[in-house]
Amino acid sequence: MEQKVVVRFAPSPTGYLHVGGARTAIFNWLYARKTGGKFILRIEDTDTERSVEDAIGEILDGLRWMGLDWDQGPDFQSRHIGEHREAARKLLASGRAYKCFCSKEDLDRKRETARQNKETFRYDGTCRQLSPDEIAEKEASGLPFTVRLKVPDGSDGVRFTDAVYGTIEKKYADIEDFVIVRSNGQPLYMLSNAVDDIRDGVTHIIRGQDGLANTPKQILIYDALGAPLPVFAHMSLALDPNRAKISKRKHGEKVAVRYYREQGFLPWALVNFLVLLGWSTPESREIFSKEELISAFSFEGISRNNPVFDLRKDDPRFFTD
Ligand code: GLU
Repeated sequence: MEQKVVVRFAPSPTGYLHVGGARTAIFNWLYARKTGGKFILRIEDTDTERSVEDAIGEILDGLRWMGLDWDQGPDFQSRHIGEHREAARKLLASGRAYKCFCSKEDLDRKRETARQNKETFRYDGTCRQLSPDEIAEKEASGLPFTVRLKVPDGSDGVRFTDAVYGTIEKKYADIEDFVIVRSNGQPLYMLSNAVDDIRDGVTHIIRGQDGLANTPKQILIYDALGAPLPVFAHMSLALDPNRAKISKRKHGEKVAVRYYREQGFLPWALVNFLVLLGWSTPESREIFSKEELISAFSFEGISRNNPVFDLRKDDPRFFTD
C-alpha cells in the first residue's frame, strides 16, 4: 500500500501571518488535499523570547479565513521539549552526539582568530576526543556543556534531491559539529523541528527556500536517529518589487494576511494570487477555482526563481474570484 502523504505548516509565532508564510501554508494544504493526505498545523513556539501570544491567534484566524483547514493540531512544539531532550540523550548514548565543555570565551577567541585569518570558523571538535574519564571529571566539577551532533568524517557529504531545486550536496567537511542542545538544557530548533517531523510521520517537508541551508544538518539528525528521510520541497521566496525579501519589519502591515482581509479582499482571490507567485501550469492560467487548483497542483510547476510580490493593493487580480 502506498504511504499516506503527511505535510505540515510549522510557523514560528513571532508576528502576524504574512503573505510568505501564507504561501507556504497554501502549498502544503494543496498538496495534502491533492493526495488525500494529512495536513498538520504545528506552532513552533520554543524560541520563547521571540514568540508572541497574539500571533498564534492571528495565524489560526488567517488560515481559517483563507479556507485552509488542517487535519491535526494546532500542536505546540513547546509541549514536546521532553521528547527533544530524549532524542539528544539517545544520540549521546549511541555516540552520534557528544558533550562539549568548551566555554563561550574559548569559542569566541577561536572565532576571532579565524576572522583575523579570513577563515570561516568551524568548531574544531576539541571535545570529540575527550575520554570517558575526562568527561566524568568535567561533569563532576559542574562544568556546563552543550550537546553537539557528530558530523561524519571523510570526503563524502550529505546528498539529497529537493523536489524543486534538484540534487544538492554539502560536504561533511563543510559542516561543523553543530549544537543540538544549549548549555541550559534547551534543545535547538534544528533538533526540535526534526524530532517533531519524525514523530508526526511527515513525509514531505514543503517550506521556504530559506530552510534549505538547514536541510543537510537536519538530514544528519534523521540519519543519526535512524529515521527515514522525508521528501524535501523548498519553495522560492516572495520578494518585494525591489527584489528584497519580504519581511514584517520592513513592510509592516501590507504583507499581513490580516491587511487584505480588512481591505475586503476575497480570501480565495488572495490564495489564487499567492499560489501563482512562483507556480504555474503549462497552460499559464491565472484564475483557478479551489477544485481546479487542487487538481492542477504539482511540485514541477514551482519556479526556482524568487517571484516578486507587488504590494499595490489595487492589483485587479485580488478582486477576481
Ligand atoms: N518554524 C519555521 C519558520 O517559521 C519553519 C521551518 C520549517 O518549516 O521547517 O521559519
